[in-house]
Amino acid sequence: MTTPDLLGLPATAPGATGVPTAASPAAGTASRVPPPAATPPPEAAGATWPGIGATGRQNSQQPSFSPELARRDMPILHRTVNGKPLVWLDNGATTQKPRQVIEAVSGFYGAGNSNIHRGAHTMAREATEAYEGGRAAVAQFLGAGSPDEIVFTRGTTEAINLVAQSWGRANLGPGDDILVPVLEHHSNIVPWQMVAKETRARVVPVPLRPDGQIDLDAYADRLSMRTRLVALSQASNVLGTVPPVKEMTALAHRYRAKVLVDGAQAVAHFPVDVADLDADFYVFSGHKLFAPTGIGALYAKPEILEAMAPWQGGGNMIESVSFEQTDYAPVPHRLEAGTGHIAGVVGLLAAVNWLTGFDRPAVAAYETELLGYAQQALATVPGLDLIGSAPDRIAVLTFTLAGHDPVEIADWLDRDGIAVRAGHHCAQPALAHYGLASAARASLALYNTPEEVDQLAASLQRLQKSG
Ligand code: PLP
Repeated sequence: MTTPDLLGLPATAPGATGVPTAASPAAGTASRVPPPAATPPPEAAGATWPGIGATGRQNSQQPSFSPELARRDMPILHRTVNGKPLVWLDNGATTQKPRQVIEAVSGFYGAGNSNIHRGAHTMAREATEAYEGGRAAVAQFLGAGSPDEIVFTRGTTEAINLVAQSWGRANLGPGDDILVPVLEHHSNIVPWQMVAKETRARVVPVPLRPDGQIDLDAYADRLSMRTRLVALSQASNVLGTVPPVKEMTALAHRYRAKVLVDGAQAVAHFPVDVADLDADFYVFSGHKLFAPTGIGALYAKPEILEAMAPWQGGGNMIESVSFEQTDYAPVPHRLEAGTGHIAGVVGLLAAVNWLTGFDRPAVAAYETELLGYAQQALATVPGLDLIGSAPDRIAVLTFTLAGHDPVEIADWLDRDGIAVRAGHHCAQPALAHYGLASAARASLALYNTPEEVDQLAASLQRLQKSG
């Protein structure tokens, strides 16, 4: 078995050779298509348990995409719920897992389980190679310059808290501003409020326009030499808005502010290139990217990461310890105290391989088309109001239905086997912008189909007729 096969990143897979540079299908998205990745994953010889390597579709020579291909890999999509075939439209909350991910995790526990970085035995070496191979794959997936720029975390929330506690405490002070658009998820608001309280900095909201776009004039007005950080999502989980992150980042940099990009809702939908964005920090969660829960990553520019102090102490993050003097390990390990989620990284590696095995511009084009189809289908439901209509967006459809509470809507749909989310979606300020406390949300992924959208619309029409 060759090394690339072992990592599931054969030289001929799209993920290994760079994502095609065809223009992105959605208006204004072309800048999100990254150039070919510069560094292939490092050698990772040795880890040979089932599921980690050349299993499944990702090793096909020709990248291609169809929702049916993706569905074939998703065992859970073939179950029923309440006697009906499952229609999973809750991808914004979490995505389903392909068999390649399930097999990789189960293969690791069945044949490869070991702690990493310690111990001289074969299995410790194999697990370490898989873990570090996962880091290399994430670096390549994000367009980072080196695996050393990737810190594993439990997910987006932990990555943002890490930046707030480590970088924020050291770099924020009285009178400093942190700019946060109103559409942010609570996990990109609350950690900044916490560190602002400690450091006497200010969290400054950036307002939205009626359609759910960030008000870019207001953004420019709020930027100043006091701005230390702009924290913004690359895609909103409730409005679907995809802001012009590259342009907003360039503007922030004119004021020497740093920019943290929350990619939780972006990574599954379109290719990401942190170098092209010039993001200082980029964070995401594996579970929204077809990988297990409990694993995610922080990317940071090397010079910023290098200067970041540990935020948690313990094993794995030290060079040497004595009661007189403790020396810390270099980054990224300095920021990864304790035993990491090794199986999670193995699953994340498999998920990245699975997704990048598809023609990603074709995936983005399909999702944009499906979004248009869903907008038309939902427009036929009497009393349904879609929240957010920014022109550049991911396939998130948040809505209210006259006469029905969002929880009632979700309950009704559940009886038809259709999973949508109801509530505040951890984005209360974004909903408040529309005078709402709660809404229903259907969020689509590459494996959803027009037939599923038809079922959603038909079920909502029946609900309206039922009174
Ligand atoms: N940011 C955005 C935009 C999200 O949609 C979410 C989750 O829905 C998060 C952050 C938090 O992600 P996690 O709970 O995986 O840390």
